[in-house]
Amino acid sequence: MFATSQKAIPKAEGTASTMRALVFRGPNQIGLEQVSIPRPGPGEAVIRVTLTTICGTDVHILKGEYPVKSGLVIGHEPVGVIHELGVGVTGYAVGDRVLVGAITPCGQCNYCLSGDWAQCGGPIGGWKFGNAINGAQAEYLLVPSAQANLAKIPDDLTDEQVVLLADIASTGISAAESGEVKLGDTVAVFAQGPIGLCATAGAKLRGAGFIIAVESDPVRAAMAKRMGADVVIDHTKTDAVAEVRKMTDGKGVDVAIEALGTQATFESALRVLRAGGTLSSLGVYSGKLSVPLEPFAAGLGDHKIVTTLCPGGKERMRRLMELVRHGRLDLRPLLTHTFSLDRIVEAYDLFAGRKEGVIKVAIHP
Ligand SMILES: [Zn+2]
Ligand SMILES: [Zn+2]
Repeated sequence: MFATSQKAIPKAEGTASTMRALVFRGPNQIGLEQVSIPRPGPGEAVIRVTLTTICGTDVHILKGEYPVKSGLVIGHEPVGVIHELGVGVTGYAVGDRVLVGAITPCGQCNYCLSGDWAQCGGPIGGWKFGNAINGAQAEYLLVPSAQANLAKIPDDLTDEQVVLLADIASTGISAAESGEVKLGDTVAVFAQGPIGLCATAGAKLRGAGFIIAVESDPVRAAMAKRMGADVVIDHTKTDAVAEVRKMTDGKGVDVAIEALGTQATFESALRVLRAGGTLSSLGVYSGKLSVPLEPFAAGLGDHKIVTTLCPGGKERMRRLMELVRHGRLDLRPLLTHTFSLDRIVEAYDLFAGRKEGVIKVAIHP
């Protein structure tokens, strides 16, 4: 369990200048606090958050595995309504419903203008919410570079239909895009957590012919089928690498997606790859990652290893919303639990502990 503030905190209303927000105070110390409602500077916007969620990365932050400064509001998956616009933001009005990606590129720097949006300003620089600046697990959120990052939500889409596009869907689907999955490809996806499930959906969207998911958790295995997996291999009951090889007549897969971030899954992804195939890695690794030489053909196998940080920006969000709007992608089944912001510490406990078959939690500020 996590430390939490017990005092009742009133909801921000009318002309209130403070709001409730989930503040990180050090490893295993988070709680709701009353903080100032942000005000937008030039080019910025403030949104009233109507729906958000918790990411596996937030759990890493909470456990002290990814350092952020004490006092930071965390969370990076916001859906909301424009509350206030800074000068210079055009084409938007107070009251517009918007989705904002977890990654908020400036759209102006050399990295952005080279197409490397997620690396805005430098390594991992596009990830600002709940990392470099205050995040989305709050009643209000300051959006930097608003012109590049506010994606208007079509009226026919609900908050629940779009909230997972901010991060996990953009990230998961990007694995299939970066891996350049082609029509009829065979794709293996290692791990079916929220991101892996979206990678499976991405492989299907890209037209894969056969999708093999690797997952032992029965709830997640069932969800993998719903997201487009043809078969799910339980790696705790059988040798997943041998099984994938058998299913591909010994050749291996065209694209292997790694969606966990461990040496074991990275290695397995490499071991199931055909000669000339692509390992598309989404995992966040810690310590050291090494490449076994035999499946890497000692460096002569023409394998490609690609990585992707969540693509952000309003055009990315618009495109993902188009997939939802026209029935090609439905992530609502992944929202297994709903909490009010007041109960977010409880939601963290459930999500971090993977209790009650949780996949993602919907948080209503
Ligand atoms: Zn995330
Ligand atoms: Zn930039």
